Amino acid sequence: MIPIKEAKLIVEKHLFKVEKEQVLLKNSGDRILAQDVVATFPSPRFDNSAMDGFAVRSVDTIGASNDSPVTLNMVGVSSAGTPNNVSIKEGECIQCMTGAKIPDGADAIIMVEDSSGFSDAETVQIMLETFPGKHIRNRGEEIKEGKILIQKGTPITPSEIGTCATFGYGNLSVFKKPEIAIFGTGDELVEPGTPLGEGQIYNSNLYVFSELANCAGAEITMRNVIKDNKDSLRLFLSEALETCDIVISSGGVSMGKYDYVRDVFMELGVEEHFWKVAQKPGKPLFFGTGKNTLIFGLPGNPVSSYIGFMDWVWPVIHTLTGQPEKESITAILKKPFPREKVKYRFLFGKAWMENGQLVCEPSPKVGSHMLTSSLQTNCILGTAQGDGPLLPGENITVHILPWKSIK
Ligand code: AMP
Ligand code: MG
Repeated sequence: MIPIKEAKLIVEKHLFKVEKEQVLLKNSGDRILAQDVVATFPSPRFDNSAMDGFAVRSVDTIGASNDSPVTLNMVGVSSAGTPNNVSIKEGECIQCMTGAKIPDGADAIIMVEDSSGFSDAETVQIMLETFPGKHIRNRGEEIKEGKILIQKGTPITPSEIGTCATFGYGNLSVFKKPEIAIFGTGDELVEPGTPLGEGQIYNSNLYVFSELANCAGAEITMRNVIKDNKDSLRLFLSEALETCDIVISSGGVSMGKYDYVRDVFMELGVEEHFWKVAQKPGKPLFFGTGKNTLIFGLPGNPVSSYIGFMDWVWPVIHTLTGQPEKESITAILKKPFPREKVKYRFLFGKAWMENGQLVCEPSPKVGSHMLTSSLQTNCILGTAQGDGPLLPGENITVHILPWKSIK
């Protein structure tokens, strides 16, 4: 049995870089940027109008009011997408719509509401005195050309995708999703939606794995439930080891008579780096490598599998895809936490803010077969070995489940 810290270092040593690929901007949502996104031009790209109105020389509007309008000659129209190259001279103006280029000579916009309105007449009455720059969006006032807008490693959300579109990126370099094989083992496993026979249970782990892998940013390319039978395991695994970046199993790595997964890994040339980690749940955890593959064998109990994935596989997917790892935080326990004498102990839990402090409590269900202990929780709590339980008022490490929030 190897301590968690030591085991983590071993995993780190075997991580490889996932490749990059180009995707169309419209397909880049939820991917991780593998390039910096730079402003290809200043924004706004040209001085333009913030209002529908008239581009004027502000000096020509001095003294203008409702009672004493100024009359200007109307010499054209500039609309968004159709600039007008006229140069405004003394006593002149043009109609200028929102987003339209400001013509040479003009230095302010009068809103149409402060005029006699748009018409085909040759003159317009201006009812407001204005000043240079009014209602003009200046070239470069938002972003200077060449500025790094979004850094490599950022997940692409609506804000990033919109910014990339704004600066004309038609496609983006993103980290390739690691390709993952997940499989469960057990003669007892039946798929949800079909009737159960005597002694059988439903396969829940692969459903959890599948959600977690997608959420972490990986792509599942192989998925199967396999009987406790070496030939079937060999068939699935030999393909998975050839084609996938990460292979994750649930079940079949413990001490049971029919726990063949580890044997078959070894037969297929997988190099074992450790088997059994000082943690509860999830002690019989296997980690090995193939030619180009990382292999995690997680124990079958649903809580062990789930927590094992979150603690071991999730951070690996994040690192491989260039995502920053969230730092763990601590919270004050409101209820006792059952510490182990020689193992790190994890339990699902609930964390919330109370009087400006983060507090938490473990799920009351502690069995590693009790998947419903994860319901109504928002975190995994964990503590190193020690004598007796951690008591209310003491600090404990909290890993907020990334798709949950703290209320
Ligand atoms: P094992 O690690 O194969 O000894 O399995 C430990 C426990 O987890 C047993 O009670 C199994 O029935 C259960 N188990 C194994 N695989 C799954 C699965 N895919 N879904 C739900 N429970 C499972
Ligand atoms: Mg089994």
